Amino acid sequence: MQATALKKKIWLSSPTMHGDELKYVTEAYETNWMSTVGANINEVERIAAEKAEMKYAVALSCCTAALHLAVKHAGETLYGKPAISHGALEGKRVFCSDMTFDATLNPVVYEGGIPVFVDTEAESWNMDPVALEKAFEMYPDVKLVVSAELYGFPGRMDRIKQICEKHGALLIEDAAEAMGATIDGRQCGSFGNYSAISYNGNKIITGSAGGCLLTNDNEMANKARKWSTQSRENAPWYQHEEVGNNYRMSNVVAGVVRGQYPYLEEHIAQKKAVYERYKEGFKDLPVQMNPIVEGTQPNYWLSAMIIDEEYMCKQVRDDSKALYSKEPGKSCPTEILETLAKYNAEGRPIWKPMHMQPMYRMHEFITREGSGRCKTNAYIAGGCVDVGADIFHRGLCLPSDNKMTAEEQTVIIDIIRRCFA
Ligand SMILES: *Cc1c(COP(=O)(O)O)cnc(C)c1O
Repeated sequence: MQATALKKKIWLSSPTMHGDELKYVTEAYETNWMSTVGANINEVERIAAEKAEMKYAVALSCCTAALHLAVKHAGETLYGKPAISHGALEGKRVFCSDMTFDATLNPVVYEGGIPVFVDTEAESWNMDPVALEKAFEMYPDVKLVVSAELYGFPGRMDRIKQICEKHGALLIEDAAEAMGATIDGRQCGSFGNYSAISYNGNKIITGSAGGCLLTNDNEMANKARKWSTQSRENAPWYQHEEVGNNYRMSNVVAGVVRGQYPYLEEHIAQKKAVYERYKEGFKDLPVQMNPIVEGTQPNYWLSAMIIDEEYMCKQVRDDSKALYSKEPGKSCPTEILETLAKYNAEGRPIWKPMHMQPMYRMHEFITREGSGRCKTNAYIAGGCVDVGADIFHRGLCLPSDNKMTAEEQTVIIDIIRRCFA
């Protein structure tokens, strides 16, 4: 049986414009605020703070910049290094999410910190609070945690926050993927001492690029604004006492973001419908959709699934290639991703865990059991627990574009079902 290829490519997650964006961009153009100053930036900061239930938002060129300024401020606060150069975390261990985009923790490295990776919780796909407790047992002097919400499906960031407070550590919440998601009714992006959100092109709303740093600390917000504009002192000339960055959001980009915010809830509803159609379409397959933790309300940014262990066909991955062997009644992420691509739909592997990345192979990785990586591919079986490696091995992100029609999604579901034939 031959599936009909999709006429139009279905993307993993593409931008969805509504018209207001152009109005605000045009306003910037016509008033000549073609700069990193202007009404759109002020509005984005107001709306972002209000939406995330934080007091202050600082509009920046991207979420990675927000994370960097958060890391830098945390380093200074904790270790008292003046920001005259990079290295606010020089030689200090920082507990970081393991199964995430590397942008979550690259800024730790920019500032000389040493990421220590904390394993993922099977029930939530987010940082495991039990493994985090274990990490504090092993390294009680660690004072900073960087934790991300995965694919818009939050875990218990409130638990992570409590654990940080208990150990006197600061929390940076990377809510890049989770804008509009909630935990017990509280917005993601409101749990960290610092939080970061992203308007990257494939996020749930977009400015084509951009991000915000969120904080309840006015001094921090002002500091971030200063650092992000090359650290100019208050003087009639260019006066500098510390190193700066060129991280401020453009007023043109801010126009797009401003035009997108009113549609956040609509995008969430569309993404939720996508998730539920997959769930229904796969209900008799040996797969699970990404978990929804009790008390949380996801934003459903990316639908993802994981194949039951017994129904995995053989799959091996090295540092750049993947191979699998077809077995009747079974499938694996590589087969599904290749088949989707063949029929004009874009899926994606799960974020490859940081402890498996060549650049972090020497870094510590802490699971519920303590320190160490599994020696074999039996990540959960055989007495070794590595939840992140297991989800990476058996999971994948599904085409989750909010503009995909129900008919197009039926074709995609059919293509995936056939992989299990
Ligand atoms: C997208 C993303 C980022 C980076 O966002 P940018 O705005 O592109 O810098 C950081 N962390 C996570 C988890 C992301 O998904």
